[in-house]
Amino acid sequence: MGKLYGRLILLLFLVCSLLLCSQAAARPLLRVGVHELGTDITEDEYGNFYGMDTDFMQALGSYAGRQVIFVPGSWQENQARLASGEIDVVAGIIKTPERQQTMLFSHLMMGRIKQEQDSRISSSPFWVEPLYFAVRRDNTALMNELELANEQLIGNRPYFVSYLYRLYYGQQSSHKLQLAPQEASFLKMHPVISAAVIADERPFAYVDEHGELQGTMRRLTDRIEQDLGIKLSLIIETNYEKAYEDLNSGKAQILLNTDGDISWAAAHGLDLTTSYLTSYYTAVTRREGIPDNPRIACFCPHIAERFLRQRYSEKQLRMYDSIESCLQAVQTKQADMTFLRLETAQYNIWQGNFPDLKTDGSIAFSRDIAIGVSNQMEPELLPILDKEIGFIGRDALLDQSSFYNPKTEAQRSFKSLFFAYPQYFVTGLSLLLLILLLLFWRQMKMRRQHTDELQKMLDTDHYTGLHNRGWFERKAGRYLAAQPESRDFAIIKFGISRPDILVNTYGAEVIFHLLQRFTDNLQQAAWAKFPAVHTSVGKLFFLADLRHFQNQEELEQALRYLLHQNEYINVGHMVVHVDFKIGICSLSSHNVSMAKAMNQADFALHEAQPICFYNAEIQQKTELLNRIEGLQQKAMANKEFKVWYQPKYDLKTRRCVGAEALVRWQSRELGFLPPGQFIPLFERNGFITQLDFFMLGQVMTWQKKRRLAGLPVVPVSVNQSRLHLQEKNYLTYMQRLVTYYSAKDIELELTETAFSLQEPKMQQQALNVGRRLQEMGFCLDIDDFGSGYSNLTLLNAMPFRVIKIDRSLLLAAEGSPRMQTVLAHTCKLGHDLGMTIICEGIETPEQEEILRRCGCDQGQGYLYGKPMKEADFEAFLAAHI
Ligand code: C2E
Ligand code: MG
Ligand code: MG
Repeated sequence: MGKLYGRLILLLFLVCSLLLCSQAAARPLLRVGVHELGTDITEDEYGNFYGMDTDFMQALGSYAGRQVIFVPGSWQENQARLASGEIDVVAGIIKTPERQQTMLFSHLMMGRIKQEQDSRISSSPFWVEPLYFAVRRDNTALMNELELANEQLIGNRPYFVSYLYRLYYGQQSSHKLQLAPQEASFLKMHPVISAAVIADERPFAYVDEHGELQGTMRRLTDRIEQDLGIKLSLIIETNYEKAYEDLNSGKAQILLNTDGDISWAAAHGLDLTTSYLTSYYTAVTRREGIPDNPRIACFCPHIAERFLRQRYSEKQLRMYDSIESCLQAVQTKQADMTFLRLETAQYNIWQGNFPDLKTDGSIAFSRDIAIGVSNQMEPELLPILDKEIGFIGRDALLDQSSFYNPKTEAQRSFKSLFFAYPQYFVTGLSLLLLILLLLFWRQMKMRRQHTDELQKMLDTDHYTGLHNRGWFERKAGRYLAAQPESRDFAIIKFGISRPDILVNTYGAEVIFHLLQRFTDNLQQAAWAKFPAVHTSVGKLFFLADLRHFQNQEELEQALRYLLHQNEYINVGHMVVHVDFKIGICSLSSHNVSMAKAMNQADFALHEAQPICFYNAEIQQKTELLNRIEGLQQKAMANKEFKVWYQPKYDLKTRRCVGAEALVRWQSRELGFLPPGQFIPLFERNGFITQLDFFMLGQVMTWQKKRRLAGLPVVPVSVNQSRLHLQEKNYLTYMQRLVTYYSAKDIELELTETAFSLQEPKMQQQALNVGRRLQEMGFCLDIDDFGSGYSNLTLLNAMPFRVIKIDRSLLLAAEGSPRMQTVLAHTCKLGHDLGMTIICEGIETPEQEEILRRCGCDQGQGYLYGKPMKEADFEAFLAAHI
């Protein structure tokens, strides 16, 4: 039943095959029974067969002009089919006498089979068994036809059978070389064989840094040693001549890498094994190509030398003794090309020093490499080596020596990669450059952003967010530089009168609002440019374009209108009136720089009632101030500053109870100067602190002198600038003073403004310094009380000992009963807080009377005595104490 099915399937198979092939040429069929599909023969999805037997039969069929159809089956099936005429020929069959009775075998073998992997053969003493094809015994015609084709095939392809064998079984050769007993015993007798090897090129054969042979030749020696169980004693040479000498002298028994030219080898006294490797030679040239009659750099003596001599004329050849020299010759244009082993060429271009040379990899010629055996050796060695080469297989060494493997690619020098793929490098570099440019651009942008932010911060008024002086000077300066005439412009400064009082009374916000509103108004005015503010002193300034006005009156009118717009401000539910002053510095005549013009506008502002143009008089004043400033230090060194004393009187007893020290400047250059002329300037330029220390020192020395002399001493008050309270070294200096002098004889006069500061931190600092002074034993007087908007909370914050009522309050009280009431209550308030009340500037007995009535304790003024020199005051004191 199974057999029937089998036949049916076969029939179907044949019909299908016939149908498929019917469109092809009408060649006569050759039905070939092959061993069933499995390990030896495989069939792909398209019905193609692969295997040594099928490949051979296909080639044979082609030579015989037949259309080959393969019929797979077991050996028994094949035999039965051949007998029944279903197939014409059986392929891949072992010749046995028994089979020869029914079949006609081919003369030539069609393949070989390995003993351990094939089930078709019985026990065989050999590791391979020849295979044949066979026809039915009576089919001599077919056999004759096929034999003829086979002879032609093998005649034309002598290695075809070996080739197929290697193709299908070469990789899976037996793990151990099978040696005949006599071969094994020969090797036992010769455990060491001296082998010359020419190691002259990487990566084929070269010597490493330890003097060891490396490359393909190393693998060959290792393999021979391993397979034959012998030791190869290597004689490493660098050229053929030396290697032949070694062989002739008997020093070497074999030469591992010799040219596979049998007769040439025989001429050199060598027997040659079969070749184990084919070296393919390629041309190496410069990148620009080669001229018509190229000069060839030839490595000699070398295996390739003979070939080159045949191909090129003597004139074209240049001889060099190393591969390196050949390549250098091409590189330096002494030669145009050289021929190297493919892998040697690639090695030198990829990993060596010649990345600028090139090879297109095409094969120019090839040389077979074989092992040469000295003919002085016993003849047994040659077949053993042949067997070993067959065992290794040519492909095994070729594969390993092949240069195209990922490992080699990874080892390529950077330089060679650059030469090989310049486009990638150019793209990479361009990308890198682009990235760097982008980074640079980003950095610059961030820097610009940062600088802009910083500049904005520097240009902005901390309190209001409006522009500040630095911004104004820069902007206005640039604008003016671009104008044809600067005389068409003026710097105008608005100043809030007594901003300190406004701040103390209503808070700093009032100033912020005022300046903000003013700036908004100015921004509407086409003639006002670059408005900016200085909030802490309540000032606002801008550049006025005078071309918008016919004359000075028109400008004043516009300014007054602005003042009018801003003279009231709402604070909570209250409407507060604000006084402004305006200083104008026209850029026409007086000034030089922007900074100077700003100062001059400031001077004008100082004099303004409420508008003042900087003029000659102010200029004179300014010049004087400049002179004073220039002389101040010299004056101090020359002791030109003098202490004058003005007596203080007890209003009840009308006796002298104290004095105020007042500075006078007896200048060599400027004559006698009262403090009003230089104190405000010194306050501005900071020299006042030096002057105050000097005054204090003078007074304390004078008092100490008097005490030591046993003379009467009265407390003397010394004026202290508000700058001290913010000065770092002030307390240290004062502390040092009290270690030498008595603090209890000194009163320090400080104005309210010294403590009423906009910045809470500074205010706290002032209060701290005041308290520390009291701890040191100084008595603190509040000077000019009532001259401004007095801050009564200060009386609580600072424990002053004396209130010194300002002259303006006294003058106001004269003829004003209401003001006298204020005065009386001020005195009462002071007394209630444990303070002494003194009033300054008393000139008449009437004033004295008013004060006495109001409860004032002491008085100071021309009525009792004008400020006088020290000697005069000493006399005065003696008379009035
Ligand atoms: P002050 O501390 O209020 O001094 C009182 C001023 O009133 C003195 O003017 C004094 O001469 C003047 N005076 C005294 N009695 C009368 C009078 O009956 N009628 C009038 N009309 N004036 C009178 P002086 O000496 O010109 O000083 C002016 C200001 O200069 C002082 O005002 C004080 O603020 C400042 N000053 C003077 N010397 C110094 C000093 O050594 N250091 C500091 N920081 N400031 C000083
Ligand atoms: Mg004073
Ligand atoms: Mg005063």
